[in-house]
Amino acid sequence: MNTQHSYRDDFPALRREIDGQPISYLDNAATTLKPQSVIDAITDYYTNNGSNIHRGKHRLSEEASDAYEASRVVLANHIGAAANELVMLRNTTEALNLVASGLDLGPDARVVGCVDAHHSQLLPWRRVGHLDLTTVDPHGRIDRDHFRSLLRKQPKVVALAYCSNVTGVIHPVRELIAEVRATCDATIVLDAAQYLPHQRVNVRELDVDFMAFSLHKMLGPTGIGCLYGRSEALMGLRPLAVGGGMVDWVDMDSSVERRIPYKFEAGTPAIASVIGSAAAIRYLEALDPVQRHRHDMDLCEALVSGALARSDVSLIGPPEVTDRIALATLRLDKGIPAGEVARLLSDSYGFMARSGHMCAQPLVTQLAGGETLRVSAYIYNEVSEIEGLYKALDELLGLMGPAHS
Ligand code: PMP
Repeated sequence: MNTQHSYRDDFPALRREIDGQPISYLDNAATTLKPQSVIDAITDYYTNNGSNIHRGKHRLSEEASDAYEASRVVLANHIGAAANELVMLRNTTEALNLVASGLDLGPDARVVGCVDAHHSQLLPWRRVGHLDLTTVDPHGRIDRDHFRSLLRKQPKVVALAYCSNVTGVIHPVRELIAEVRATCDATIVLDAAQYLPHQRVNVRELDVDFMAFSLHKMLGPTGIGCLYGRSEALMGLRPLAVGGGMVDWVDMDSSVERRIPYKFEAGTPAIASVIGSAAAIRYLEALDPVQRHRHDMDLCEALVSGALARSDVSLIGPPEVTDRIALATLRLDKGIPAGEVARLLSDSYGFMARSGHMCAQPLVTQLAGGETLRVSAYIYNEVSEIEGLYKALDELLGLMGPAHS
């Protein structure tokens, strides 16, 4: 980014070298690196406190409880929610499982999803209902006619991703939600794991019932994901786990649940990581949004144009840079194994990129026919790194091609 200091400097992991070579981290859709301020917030809790929350009246516990609840407010504010509408969980996967298993859908309920669903959205719904998957076009854009026809079957749930972690496509979620509201009485569940790290969301304007996201994909520590739920929607949801911390009263044969969101947070939570998550949000909110978006678009442009300029890779996703995040999933056309390329990119050139099915195997199989290589950028990346990765890829594919073709 064009500012006085490089954001790279805030991320100590980027000081690492592999075999004397600086590293370039381009696996941000899997998880992002953590800035020093997040590491400091976590260290501070363990160094100066370390006690449990919501349990006792002693000073350390009260301070920890306050820090935990203040962090919830920071996270809730970030998406325009009230604090009691935000449940602290482990990750997006847990959040989506909580909704799928906690709604009272009854037998044979229909759920409408999309074929680009991450396994975390696909499998929980498949377990509890009959899942109809909306198709996508060859670039990964949702088939609006098919979606509309599935809504006419009166599903009880519509479960979509805001943005695909394979194609990078940002779906027209506002329009899709409006169509759902106009057609059926479904609960709308949005997976914002890939979108929220790139762009702000206001859950009220969006009119979703539930939204899940992971802090570790937006500079926070691993082990924290959130479920936003409209308060009435949350009140109707059955907790996934029961135990300490989620009840007001327990006697020999009954118990009384605490109010939302506490009834969903059984057991001792990841206190330090919640505090670290608030530090991550503070870091992101301090960035200039306009400059940030421009930078994201520059990275996106470099990723897309680099892929389109090459004859031995195919871009799995749209060739346009609009309505897309800075992510490029590539099929290697000579049948060269993506996993081997990812390992060589890392070990010989210092580029960290992901290979495989990206936990969205139905879509990757449909659009790519097998394993892919995914390059995903974030705020600390530069266009020159992406150009460098493509150059390294050219060399590798040149070397590996003849033997594999
Ligand atoms: N949904 C999407 C779109 C994702 O990209 C991911 C992470 N790859 C998930 C859900 C699951 O996130 P988590 O691993 O944090 O549960």
